[in-house]
Amino acid sequence: MQSKTMECHHKKPKSLGGDDSYNNLVWIKTEVHRLVHAVQQETIEKYLEQLDLNKIGLKRVNSLRKLVENSVI
Ligand SMILES: [Zn+2]
Repeated sequence: MQSKTMECHHKKPKSLGGDDSYNNLVWIKTEVHRLVHAVQQETIEKYLEQLDLNKIGLKRVNSLRKLVENSVI
């Protein structure tokens, strides 16, 4: 049940000094985007279940989570 919607994400958030340069932007699926920014365990579990990521996908999510200063999941 994944949407095909893509969203633009700032690898380094503007709040941490990130800018709108090409290198700082990435297009990711809406659900992945939610997961990158999720802090509540319930939300994290919901999107992990929806996305059913493989190891590489999870690694990518975690590298994006680290950049926004969220915990590794
Ligand atoms: Zn974002």
